Amino acid sequence: MATDTLDVPATTEFVVERHPAPVDSAKRAELISNPGFGRVFTDHMAIIRYTEGQGWHDAKVTARAPIPLDPAAAVLHYAQEIFEGMKAYRLEDGGMALFRPDMNAKRFRDSARRLAMPEIPQDLFIDSVRKLVAIDRDWFPSVEGGSLYLRPFMFASEVFLGVKPSSEYLYIVIASAVGGYFKGGAPAVSLWVSQDYTRAAPGGTGDAKCGGNYAASLAAQAQAISMGFDQVVFLDAAERRWVEELGGMNLFFVFDDGSLLTPPLGGTILPGITRDSLLTLAREEGLSVREERYGIDQWEADAKSGRLVETFACGTAAVVTPVGKVTNPSGSFTIGSGGPGQLTQRLKQRLVDIQRGVAADPHDWVMRLG
Ligand SMILES: *Cc1c(COP(=O)(O)O)cnc(C)c1O
Repeated sequence: MATDTLDVPATTEFVVERHPAPVDSAKRAELISNPGFGRVFTDHMAIIRYTEGQGWHDAKVTARAPIPLDPAAAVLHYAQEIFEGMKAYRLEDGGMALFRPDMNAKRFRDSARRLAMPEIPQDLFIDSVRKLVAIDRDWFPSVEGGSLYLRPFMFASEVFLGVKPSSEYLYIVIASAVGGYFKGGAPAVSLWVSQDYTRAAPGGTGDAKCGGNYAASLAAQAQAISMGFDQVVFLDAAERRWVEELGGMNLFFVFDDGSLLTPPLGGTILPGITRDSLLTLAREEGLSVREERYGIDQWEADAKSGRLVETFACGTAAVVTPVGKVTNPSGSFTIGSGGPGQLTQRLKQRLVDIQRGVAADPHDWVMRLG
């Protein structure tokens, strides 16, 4: 890997200001016993300011609180915002760990470049996450399969209505206690193939993790829900033919010869860390893995002929989610038995075992938190 000049050790010191009135322990115990997803937040946040000419400054871990924002702050008008999604996992031995946080740091820098924002150095990014987990470790959920979901994000805070990259930014990390996404194995989801909307066009922001991509996907997702489906699958914007991904998860296809296929990265697909990890694990198992385009017609034909036996979606929040059924305006097709497939389950278990420190970690993916 080329030396990244941005990866100099962070010299920025964090000021730590403990919450003067944290949630009391009885209330916290109740909240973390059944946290759900994205509703239960910890007491603190990490925050760093960026000002053009001054760089990163005023790093703090402080009480989680509303952020005063001028109504003319650039993010509210032009959506210059990016984010990350990662988890602190509980290890088998009781410790806590992050999973490939260097990949989140890198992707955050890549997203920043695409949105014309400053790149936060890797050490500062990882340090901010570690410091937040350290101060809020008592919020780790007590439920089986629970984790602390970490949400680093950055937005344009300059007070100016001119259209240009902001000269000021706020970088913040918040943490949320989350339960196992699904108790006892994920149920298979049903997908609607969006006809009216696409997610990402060539040259657009499809491979950046920015809020704007999600904003643009909501109408499609709402349409799918209103028709009784769980999620939308997006086709490519140019030909409306190639299967790309869901609104927030990458897709894998499993064939009857035991081989795997996932759509190739190349600008319109978000480079998932779960995707990359599963590709690595599958290749290590000796499975044949292709990163190739896959047409919606082919998907349907292969599912109907039995050549395609499994399909799953993957991402940090739910790890691996089996796809049971897919619907086009022309009709529906069922994947395999309509339930979770064998390879889907096995790859998920391989990944979870590494994340929990149960299986060996030959790639040093797990970063133990002290
Ligand atoms: C975050 C995200 C993913 C999954 O990425 P992970 O790193 O595996 O969590 C997939 N697609 C989109 C659009 C995303 O925003």
